Amino acid sequence: MDTTIDWGNLPFGYLPTDYNVRCEFHNGQWGPIEVSQSDKIDIHIAATTLHYGQEIFEGLKAFRGVDGKVRIFRLEENAKRLQESAKGLLMAPVPTELFREMCLQAVKLNERFIPPYGSGASLYIRPLEIGLTPRIGVKEAEDYLFIIMVTPVGPYFKGGFKNTNICIMREYDRVAPQGTGRWKVGGNYAASLGASHRAHEMGYSAVLFLDPKEKKYLDECGPANFYAIKDGKYITPKSDSILPSITNMSLMELAREMGMEVEQRHITVDELADVSEAAACGTAAVCSPIGEIDDIDTGKKYVISKDGKPGPVTTEFVRRLDAIRHGEEPDTHGWNTIVM
Ligand SMILES: *Cc1c(COP(=O)(O)O)cnc(C)c1O
Repeated sequence: MDTTIDWGNLPFGYLPTDYNVRCEFHNGQWGPIEVSQSDKIDIHIAATTLHYGQEIFEGLKAFRGVDGKVRIFRLEENAKRLQESAKGLLMAPVPTELFREMCLQAVKLNERFIPPYGSGASLYIRPLEIGLTPRIGVKEAEDYLFIIMVTPVGPYFKGGFKNTNICIMREYDRVAPQGTGRWKVGGNYAASLGASHRAHEMGYSAVLFLDPKEKKYLDECGPANFYAIKDGKYITPKSDSILPSITNMSLMELAREMGMEVEQRHITVDELADVSEAAACGTAAVCSPIGEIDDIDTGKKYVISKDGKPGPVTTEFVRRLDAIRHGEEPDTHGWNTIVM
Protein backbone atom coordinates (compact mmCIF):
# COMPACT_ATOMS: atom_id res chain seq x y z
CA MET A 1 0.00 0.00 0.00
CA ASP A 2 1.20 3.50 -0.79
CA THR A 3 1.89 5.16 2.55
CA THR A 4 2.22 8.68 1.12
CA ILE A 5 -1.48 8.95 0.17
CA ASP A 6 -3.90 10.58 2.60
CA TRP A 7 -6.68 8.01 2.04
CA GLY A 8 -9.23 9.81 4.18
CA ASN A 9 -8.95 13.00 2.13
CA LEU A 10 -8.84 11.77 -1.44
CA PRO A 11 -10.85 13.91 -3.81
CA PHE A 12 -13.25 12.35 -6.35
CA GLY A 13 -10.70 13.04 -9.05
CA TYR A 14 -7.87 11.53 -11.06
CA LEU A 15 -4.75 10.53 -9.19
CA PRO A 16 -2.11 8.97 -11.46
CA THR A 17 -1.53 5.24 -10.91
CA ASP A 18 1.24 2.92 -12.14
CA TYR A 19 -0.38 1.04 -14.98
CA ASN A 20 -3.32 0.85 -17.35
CA VAL A 21 -4.24 -2.05 -19.59
CA ARG A 22 -5.20 -1.88 -23.24
CA CYS A 23 -6.42 -4.06 -26.05
CA GLU A 24 -6.84 -3.23 -29.73
CA PHE A 25 -9.34 -4.57 -32.22
CA HIS A 26 -8.11 -4.96 -35.82
CA ASN A 27 -9.22 -7.11 -38.76
CA GLY A 28 -12.27 -8.30 -36.89
CA GLN A 29 -10.55 -9.47 -33.73
CA TRP A 30 -9.23 -8.41 -30.36
CA GLY A 31 -5.46 -8.64 -29.93
CA PRO A 32 -3.37 -9.37 -26.83
CA ILE A 33 -3.77 -7.44 -23.57
CA GLU A 34 -1.05 -4.81 -23.26
CA VAL A 35 0.12 -3.31 -19.99
CA SER A 36 1.12 0.35 -20.23
CA GLN A 37 2.87 2.73 -17.89
CA SER A 38 1.93 5.73 -19.99
CA ASP A 39 -1.23 7.70 -19.38
CA LYS A 40 -1.19 8.97 -22.97
CA ILE A 41 -2.56 7.50 -26.18
CA ASP A 42 -1.34 8.14 -29.69
CA ILE A 43 -4.23 8.13 -32.15
CA HIS A 44 -4.90 9.38 -35.68
CA ILE A 45 -6.22 12.93 -35.90
CA ALA A 46 -9.12 11.69 -38.05
CA ALA A 47 -10.13 8.84 -35.68
CA THR A 48 -13.91 8.39 -35.51
CA THR A 49 -13.89 8.94 -31.76
CA LEU A 50 -12.63 12.50 -32.22
CA HIS A 51 -14.93 13.52 -35.06
CA TYR A 52 -18.06 11.45 -34.77
CA GLY A 53 -18.15 10.60 -31.09
CA GLN A 54 -17.59 6.85 -31.18
CA GLU A 55 -16.79 6.61 -27.47
CA ILE A 56 -18.39 4.51 -24.74
CA PHE A 57 -17.33 3.87 -21.17
CA GLU A 58 -18.11 2.17 -17.88
CA GLY A 59 -17.54 2.88 -14.21
CA LEU A 60 -17.15 0.34 -11.43
CA LYS A 61 -15.29 0.04 -8.17
CA ALA A 62 -12.97 -2.28 -6.25
CA PHE A 63 -13.07 -2.35 -2.44
CA ARG A 64 -10.67 -3.58 0.22
CA GLY A 65 -12.79 -5.67 2.59
CA VAL A 66 -12.85 -6.23 6.31
CA ASP A 67 -11.06 -9.57 5.63
CA GLY A 68 -8.33 -7.88 3.55
CA LYS A 69 -9.71 -9.29 0.28
CA VAL A 70 -10.32 -7.07 -2.74
CA ARG A 71 -13.74 -7.21 -4.37
CA ILE A 72 -15.10 -5.72 -7.58
CA PHE A 73 -18.84 -5.05 -7.54
CA ARG A 74 -21.01 -6.49 -10.35
CA LEU A 75 -18.32 -6.74 -12.98
CA GLU A 76 -20.39 -8.95 -15.32
CA GLU A 77 -23.22 -6.41 -15.42
CA ASN A 78 -20.79 -3.68 -16.41
CA ALA A 79 -19.34 -5.93 -19.12
CA LYS A 80 -22.83 -6.61 -20.45
CA ARG A 81 -23.78 -2.96 -20.47
CA LEU A 82 -20.59 -2.03 -22.33
CA GLN A 83 -21.54 -4.62 -24.95
CA GLU A 84 -24.98 -3.02 -25.30
CA SER A 85 -23.39 0.42 -25.66
CA ALA A 86 -21.01 -0.97 -28.31
CA LYS A 87 -23.91 -2.42 -30.31
CA GLY A 88 -25.71 0.91 -30.07
CA LEU A 89 -22.80 2.80 -31.65
CA LEU A 90 -21.81 0.00 -34.07
CA MET A 91 -18.56 -0.58 -32.19
CA ALA A 92 -16.81 -3.91 -31.55
CA PRO A 93 -18.24 -5.44 -28.35
CA VAL A 94 -15.65 -6.41 -25.72
CA PRO A 95 -16.20 -10.05 -24.69
CA THR A 96 -17.02 -10.48 -20.99
CA GLU A 97 -13.96 -12.69 -20.44
CA LEU A 98 -11.63 -10.03 -21.86
CA PHE A 99 -13.35 -7.35 -19.80
CA ARG A 100 -12.97 -9.44 -16.66
CA GLU A 101 -9.32 -10.30 -17.29
CA MET A 102 -8.42 -6.67 -17.96
CA CYS A 103 -10.26 -5.44 -14.84
CA LEU A 104 -8.43 -7.98 -12.69
CA GLN A 105 -5.06 -7.08 -14.19
CA ALA A 106 -5.64 -3.35 -13.82
CA VAL A 107 -6.57 -3.74 -10.16
CA LYS A 108 -3.74 -6.17 -9.30
CA LEU A 109 -1.08 -4.12 -11.07
CA ASN A 110 -2.13 -1.05 -9.09
CA GLU A 111 -2.56 -2.81 -5.79
CA ARG A 112 -0.70 -0.09 -3.89
CA PHE A 113 -3.47 2.34 -4.84
CA ILE A 114 -6.33 0.29 -3.40
CA PRO A 115 -7.51 2.28 -0.38
CA PRO A 116 -7.47 0.49 2.99
CA TYR A 117 -10.60 -0.88 4.61
CA GLY A 118 -12.33 1.71 6.74
CA SER A 119 -11.09 4.76 4.80
CA GLY A 120 -14.37 5.18 2.91
CA ALA A 121 -12.32 5.34 -0.28
CA SER A 122 -12.22 2.82 -3.14
CA LEU A 123 -10.44 2.12 -6.39
CA TYR A 124 -12.50 3.47 -9.28
CA ILE A 125 -12.21 1.42 -12.46
CA ARG A 126 -12.86 3.25 -15.71
CA PRO A 127 -13.08 1.14 -18.88
CA LEU A 128 -13.44 3.04 -22.14
CA GLU A 129 -13.62 2.14 -25.80
CA ILE A 130 -12.93 4.41 -28.76
CA GLY A 131 -13.08 4.17 -32.56
CA LEU A 132 -9.60 4.50 -34.10
CA THR A 133 -10.09 4.30 -37.85
CA PRO A 134 -9.44 7.59 -39.67
CA ARG A 135 -12.64 8.72 -41.42
CA ILE A 136 -13.93 11.88 -42.94
CA GLY A 137 -17.12 10.34 -44.33
CA VAL A 138 -19.51 9.41 -41.54
CA LYS A 139 -19.15 5.69 -40.97
CA GLU A 140 -18.28 3.49 -38.03
CA ALA A 141 -14.62 2.58 -37.42
CA GLU A 142 -13.12 -0.82 -38.18
CA ASP A 143 -10.44 -0.50 -35.51
CA TYR A 144 -11.00 0.04 -31.80
CA LEU A 145 -9.03 0.60 -28.64
CA PHE A 146 -10.30 -0.60 -25.27
CA ILE A 147 -8.54 0.75 -22.20
CA ILE A 148 -9.00 0.16 -18.49
CA MET A 149 -7.58 2.80 -16.19
CA VAL A 150 -8.00 2.96 -12.43
CA THR A 151 -7.70 5.69 -9.86
CA PRO A 152 -8.35 5.80 -6.12
CA VAL A 153 -11.34 7.96 -5.18
CA GLY A 154 -12.48 9.31 -1.87
CA PRO A 155 -15.97 9.06 -0.45
CA TYR A 156 -18.40 10.97 -2.62
CA PHE A 157 -19.73 12.91 0.34
CA LYS A 158 -16.85 14.81 1.82
CA GLY A 159 -19.03 16.66 4.29
CA GLY A 160 -20.78 13.40 5.28
CA PHE A 161 -23.91 11.76 3.92
CA LYS A 162 -26.44 14.57 3.47
CA ASN A 163 -29.28 15.87 1.35
CA THR A 164 -28.84 18.14 -1.64
CA ASN A 165 -31.42 20.00 -3.71
CA ILE A 166 -31.99 19.43 -7.40
CA CYS A 167 -34.09 21.11 -10.09
CA ILE A 168 -36.29 20.43 -13.10
CA MET A 169 -35.84 22.60 -16.21
CA ARG A 170 -37.76 22.06 -19.43
CA GLU A 171 -35.47 24.07 -21.67
CA TYR A 172 -32.82 21.32 -21.77
CA ASP A 173 -32.73 17.67 -22.82
CA ARG A 174 -29.67 15.49 -22.51
CA VAL A 175 -30.78 12.81 -24.96
CA ALA A 176 -33.48 12.13 -27.58
CA PRO A 177 -36.53 9.88 -26.93
CA GLN A 178 -35.13 6.86 -28.82
CA GLY A 179 -31.56 8.12 -28.90
CA THR A 180 -28.38 7.25 -27.06
CA GLY A 181 -29.64 7.73 -23.49
CA ARG A 182 -29.87 3.98 -22.90
CA TRP A 183 -26.14 3.58 -23.63
CA LYS A 184 -23.17 4.88 -21.68
CA VAL A 185 -21.87 7.28 -24.30
CA GLY A 186 -19.50 10.16 -23.59
CA GLY A 187 -21.52 12.40 -25.91
CA ASN A 188 -24.53 12.20 -23.59
CA TYR A 189 -22.42 13.89 -20.98
CA ALA A 190 -21.26 16.59 -23.38
CA ALA A 191 -24.93 17.24 -24.13
CA SER A 192 -25.73 17.64 -20.44
CA LEU A 193 -22.94 20.05 -19.49
CA GLY A 194 -24.93 23.19 -20.29
CA ALA A 195 -27.90 22.15 -18.18
CA SER A 196 -25.71 21.07 -15.25
CA HIS A 197 -23.76 24.30 -15.37
CA ARG A 198 -26.99 26.27 -15.26
CA ALA A 199 -28.28 24.23 -12.32
CA HIS A 200 -25.02 24.71 -10.39
CA GLU A 201 -25.21 28.45 -11.02
CA MET A 202 -28.63 28.45 -9.41
CA GLY A 203 -27.30 26.52 -6.41
CA TYR A 204 -28.57 23.01 -7.25
CA SER A 205 -26.41 19.91 -7.18
CA ALA A 206 -28.01 18.37 -10.28
CA VAL A 207 -30.78 18.47 -12.87
CA LEU A 208 -33.62 15.97 -12.81
CA PHE A 209 -34.23 15.57 -16.55
CA LEU A 210 -37.73 14.87 -17.82
CA ASP A 211 -38.59 12.49 -20.62
CA PRO A 212 -37.53 14.33 -23.77
CA LYS A 213 -40.71 13.52 -25.72
CA GLU A 214 -43.57 14.72 -23.53
CA LYS A 215 -41.70 16.45 -20.70
CA LYS A 216 -44.22 14.83 -18.42
CA TYR A 217 -42.36 12.03 -16.71
CA LEU A 218 -39.20 11.90 -14.64
CA ASP A 219 -36.17 10.46 -16.43
CA GLU A 220 -32.90 10.63 -14.51
CA CYS A 221 -30.49 12.91 -12.67
CA GLY A 222 -27.76 13.54 -15.23
CA PRO A 223 -25.19 10.86 -14.42
CA ALA A 224 -27.39 8.95 -11.94
CA ASN A 225 -30.78 7.19 -11.92
CA PHE A 226 -33.64 8.45 -9.79
CA TYR A 227 -35.81 6.62 -7.28
CA ALA A 228 -38.34 7.63 -4.67
CA ILE A 229 -40.20 5.99 -1.84
CA LYS A 230 -43.94 6.46 -2.14
CA ASP A 231 -46.49 4.78 0.15
CA GLY A 232 -43.69 2.46 1.25
CA LYS A 233 -43.00 1.39 -2.34
CA TYR A 234 -39.77 1.80 -4.27
CA ILE A 235 -40.59 3.65 -7.48
CA THR A 236 -38.15 4.35 -10.29
CA PRO A 237 -38.71 5.64 -13.84
CA LYS A 238 -39.20 3.33 -16.79
CA SER A 239 -37.93 5.05 -19.90
CA ASP A 240 -36.11 4.36 -23.16
CA SER A 241 -33.97 7.43 -22.67
CA ILE A 242 -32.26 6.57 -19.38
CA LEU A 243 -29.24 4.40 -18.66
CA PRO A 244 -30.01 1.13 -16.85
CA SER A 245 -28.05 1.82 -13.65
CA ILE A 246 -26.51 -1.22 -12.02
CA THR A 247 -26.80 0.49 -8.64
CA ASN A 248 -30.53 0.98 -9.25
CA MET A 249 -30.86 -2.67 -10.33
CA SER A 250 -29.16 -3.70 -7.06
CA LEU A 251 -31.33 -1.39 -4.94
CA MET A 252 -34.48 -2.85 -6.50
CA GLU A 253 -33.35 -6.28 -5.29
CA LEU A 254 -32.49 -4.98 -1.84
CA ALA A 255 -35.85 -3.18 -1.64
CA ARG A 256 -37.69 -6.44 -2.38
CA GLU A 257 -35.64 -8.20 0.27
CA MET A 258 -36.56 -5.46 2.71
CA GLY A 259 -40.21 -6.29 1.99
CA MET A 260 -40.98 -3.34 -0.27
CA GLU A 261 -42.89 -3.44 -3.51
CA VAL A 262 -40.90 -2.23 -6.50
CA GLU A 263 -42.49 -0.33 -9.38
CA GLN A 264 -40.57 0.57 -12.50
CA ARG A 265 -42.98 2.85 -14.32
CA HIS A 266 -43.71 6.34 -15.60
CA ILE A 267 -43.57 8.84 -12.73
CA THR A 268 -45.19 12.23 -13.25
CA VAL A 269 -43.69 15.42 -11.85
CA ASP A 270 -46.65 16.08 -9.53
CA GLU A 271 -46.25 12.68 -7.88
CA LEU A 272 -43.23 14.23 -6.17
CA ALA A 273 -45.69 15.89 -3.80
CA ASP A 274 -46.41 12.48 -2.23
CA VAL A 275 -43.02 10.86 -1.85
CA SER A 276 -41.32 10.38 1.50
CA GLU A 277 -37.77 9.95 0.14
CA ALA A 278 -36.00 10.54 -3.14
CA ALA A 279 -32.42 10.00 -4.24
CA ALA A 280 -30.07 9.83 -7.19
CA CYS A 281 -28.24 6.50 -7.44
CA GLY A 282 -25.08 5.41 -9.22
CA THR A 283 -21.62 3.98 -8.70
CA ALA A 284 -20.06 7.30 -7.69
CA ALA A 285 -22.26 8.00 -4.66
CA VAL A 286 -24.40 4.83 -4.26
CA CYS A 287 -27.33 7.01 -3.14
CA SER A 288 -27.35 10.77 -3.08
CA PRO A 289 -30.40 11.75 -1.00
CA ILE A 290 -32.52 14.65 -2.20
CA GLY A 291 -33.89 17.29 0.15
CA GLU A 292 -35.96 19.34 -2.25
CA ILE A 293 -36.83 19.32 -5.95
CA ASP A 294 -37.63 22.70 -7.49
CA ASP A 295 -39.53 22.95 -10.75
CA ILE A 296 -37.98 26.05 -12.28
CA ASP A 297 -40.69 26.51 -14.93
CA THR A 298 -43.75 26.28 -12.68
CA GLY A 299 -42.09 27.65 -9.55
CA LYS A 300 -43.34 24.64 -7.57
CA LYS A 301 -41.07 23.40 -4.81
CA TYR A 302 -41.35 19.78 -3.73
CA VAL A 303 -39.96 19.42 -0.23
CA ILE A 304 -39.07 15.73 0.03
CA SER A 305 -37.26 15.63 3.33
CA LYS A 306 -39.27 17.11 6.17
CA ASP A 307 -36.50 16.93 8.78
CA GLY A 308 -33.55 17.78 6.51
CA LYS A 309 -31.94 14.37 7.01
CA PRO A 310 -31.51 11.44 4.59
CA GLY A 311 -34.47 9.07 4.93
CA PRO A 312 -34.33 5.64 6.62
CA VAL A 313 -34.67 3.58 3.43
CA THR A 314 -31.86 5.41 1.63
CA THR A 315 -29.66 5.23 4.70
CA GLU A 316 -30.25 1.48 4.97
CA PHE A 317 -29.55 0.97 1.22
CA VAL A 318 -26.16 2.63 1.56
CA ARG A 319 -25.35 0.63 4.68
CA ARG A 320 -26.36 -2.68 3.06
CA LEU A 321 -24.51 -2.13 -0.19
CA ASP A 322 -21.40 -0.98 1.63
CA ALA A 323 -21.51 -4.01 3.91
CA ILE A 324 -21.86 -6.43 0.97
CA ARG A 325 -19.05 -4.79 -0.98
CA HIS A 326 -16.67 -4.83 1.98
CA GLY A 327 -17.36 -8.46 2.90
CA GLU A 328 -19.08 -7.55 6.16
CA GLU A 329 -22.35 -9.21 5.13
CA PRO A 330 -22.72 -12.34 3.00
CA ASP A 331 -22.85 -11.74 -0.75
CA THR A 332 -26.00 -13.80 -1.23
CA HIS A 333 -26.55 -12.50 -4.80
CA GLY A 334 -23.05 -13.24 -6.07
CA TRP A 335 -22.43 -9.59 -6.83
CA ASN A 336 -18.74 -9.52 -5.90
CA THR A 337 -15.78 -10.76 -7.90
CA ILE A 338 -12.88 -11.50 -5.56
CA VAL A 339 -9.66 -10.21 -7.12
CA MET A 340 -7.23 -11.35 -4.45
C1 LIG B 1 -23.26 5.54 -15.27
C2 LIG B 1 -24.60 6.18 -15.27
C3 LIG B 1 -25.57 5.93 -14.28
C4 LIG B 1 -25.29 5.07 -13.07
O1 LIG B 1 -25.09 3.73 -13.39
P1 LIG B 1 -24.41 2.76 -12.33
O2 LIG B 1 -24.26 1.50 -13.08
O3 LIG B 1 -25.32 2.65 -11.18
O4 LIG B 1 -23.11 3.40 -11.96
C5 LIG B 1 -26.80 6.53 -14.41
N1 LIG B 1 -27.09 7.34 -15.43
C6 LIG B 1 -26.19 7.62 -16.39
C7 LIG B 1 -26.57 8.53 -17.49
C8 LIG B 1 -24.92 7.05 -16.34
O5 LIG B 1 -24.04 7.33 -17.31
